[in-house]
Amino acid sequence: MSDTVMPLNQSGENRRLRLIDPHIHMISRTTDDYQAMAAAGVVAVIEPAFWTGQPRTTVGTFVDYFASLVGWERFRASQFGLKHYCTMGLNSKEANNEALAEQVMELLPRFVGKEGVVAIGEIGYDEITAAEEKYFHLQVELAKEVNLPIMIHTPHRNKKVGTTRSMDLLIEHGIDPTMAVIDHNTEETCKEVLDRGFWCAFTLYPRSKMGSMRMVNLVKQYGHERIFIDSSADWGMSDPLAVPKTARLMLENGIDFDTVETICYKNALAIYGKSGQMNESDWADAKGIDKTQLFEGNSVLRGGPGSMDDNPLIS
Ligand SMILES: [Zn+2]
Repeated sequence: MSDTVMPLNQSGENRRLRLIDPHIHMISRTTDDYQAMAAAGVVAVIEPAFWTGQPRTTVGTFVDYFASLVGWERFRASQFGLKHYCTMGLNSKEANNEALAEQVMELLPRFVGKEGVVAIGEIGYDEITAAEEKYFHLQVELAKEVNLPIMIHTPHRNKKVGTTRSMDLLIEHGIDPTMAVIDHNTEETCKEVLDRGFWCAFTLYPRSKMGSMRMVNLVKQYGHERIFIDSSADWGMSDPLAVPKTARLMLENGIDFDTVETICYKNALAIYGKSGQMNESDWADAKGIDKTQLFEGNSVLRGGPGSMDDNPLIS
């Protein structure tokens, strides 16, 4: 993905495709990833609050994690020319530690109103336990109170059951389906998600679960309405360039530029923009990278301001 200009659209104009990765855990990624994403046309990312691979044991680690999502990581992205947004929530895996979960629920109101928070998420089911269900209900109510969209993580096991049940729960709470994203869909779940009026996101994993060519076929079958894609890249096997690579594969397979732009940019902006926290002008009017900026005295551009001036990827 060295060149940033995508293939020509049908009218022959050379239009640059702008991209959003609306689900990526940048806390686990390196600065190389930020540079490669920016070079491939990614202008904005959304980082959902999730677990971090090893269960947390005290609420203080959630405080620092949430603070980094609205603080340090946002700054780090800005130093590579990307806009960073996040979602706030107690993930389903750690909902099963109820003593800790109670404390996280008390903490969340402090963070949901921060700048750049575009949804409550990722919440939902993991093993579909009673504790997961309890905190799922509570956080849907929180989303209603603060009028934010909801990002739903669907389970990797029992996907179909978990997906249906997640939508049932949202409807039970009176959530407008156009305010909720059901993520990690497959061919097995997407029809029901679309039929019920929810946003339908697909995570493109490099090997298993959901691959790019399968996505091309899904778009040919279902079109672009309420469909978008993400990488969910984190600390495990994943690809932070999954969105640009799949965008290119769609174009190469005859899907038109406008459809690709809708799936890889416009739809994510449409739903998460409902938070009032994410606007196209955030990056369209951006004045470039201020390399003199520091975050609490620290820079990510080692060697001081200007040290990366000769890097073509970020200048
Ligand atoms: Zn995730």
